[in-house]
Amino acid sequence: MSQAKAVALISGGLDSLLAAKVMLEQGVHVEGINFYTGFCVEGHTHAIRKKDKAKPKRNNALWSAEQLGIKLHIVDIVEEYKDVLINPKHGYGKNMNPCLDCKIFMVHKAQQWIEENGFDFIITGEVIGQRPMSQRKDTMPIISKQSGADDRLLRPLCAKNLPETLAEREGWVDRNKLYDFSGRNRKPQMALAKQFGFEDYAKPAGGCCFLTDESYSIKLVDLWDARGERNYEMDDIMLLKVGRHIRPEPHYKLIIGREDGENKFLQGYKNIFTSIKMISHSGPLTLVDGIVNDNDLEFAARITARFSQGRNEDTVTVEIKHKNGETNTIDVTPFKPSEIKPDWYL
Ligand code: SF4
Repeated sequence: MSQAKAVALISGGLDSLLAAKVMLEQGVHVEGINFYTGFCVEGHTHAIRKKDKAKPKRNNALWSAEQLGIKLHIVDIVEEYKDVLINPKHGYGKNMNPCLDCKIFMVHKAQQWIEENGFDFIITGEVIGQRPMSQRKDTMPIISKQSGADDRLLRPLCAKNLPETLAEREGWVDRNKLYDFSGRNRKPQMALAKQFGFEDYAKPAGGCCFLTDESYSIKLVDLWDARGERNYEMDDIMLLKVGRHIRPEPHYKLIIGREDGENKFLQGYKNIFTSIKMISHSGPLTLVDGIVNDNDLEFAARITARFSQGRNEDTVTVEIKHKNGETNTIDVTPFKPSEIKPDWYL
């Protein structure tokens, strides 16, 4: 047979980078595929927040592909992913992360991709015991089966702990040169990275996406509760990543910029939401999500003022811009920190 072809799921993390490299070392033709769900942690918040300005803004999946010298296909799955997140058959992890369904879905999409593109098998950087939900010995076969990939799915980093797959049986890869990593210990991966000469790879603290983040998950559930339906648009999930979220009443929520970069980002939404801007002092821009009356807006303005430079004044002036484009200014007394109830914060 001519050179075997594999598609590698590239998240941007170390494991998928290593898995692809192991295959390249065995002479397999590898191309990468990266799925964009809208919840990916990458660059986005770094690009917004001023304090993170110095951090390099790179797309880790592209960086991985560059290190490997392979082609990367970035596939937008934002719409299809909604069903995975809203109705996960296998439930959620510690937060709103539907990791097992997510993995099944991504491998399924990769399976479709190899069928359409004439590739032979799929590789992932999964390691047994690495993650409590999706990367366990009992969930590995579930992913292979329910994705439809079956034994076309090879996990080079832990393959020796798993039954032989098609690629090994067909002699496309040498099982002896695969690995038997397991557990949460990252040392074997780090040693392998050193051996391959990889430095400066991404070290995500949580997982590959915001859904593993507790505070993000709380805001997502709050959004669904407030709307009375489990659904979302791209703007919704972007806004959950930005600002201070405060819900003083069930019928409305405030998104308050925490610094310049966030205020600028929120400005882009001024035509979709009612917004509150400080006039007499510098301070945050606030978006008001919900249907509100004048009393609510005065209340919201007092909360906004509490986070402004005028927080210790008797009165400050704010501008309210309504969704229909009309604006008016009002004078309000900033709330004292103690007047803002802790349970309003999301
Ligand atoms: S952390 Fe996010 S992207 Fe990664 S498997 Fe879980 S749900 Fe999917």
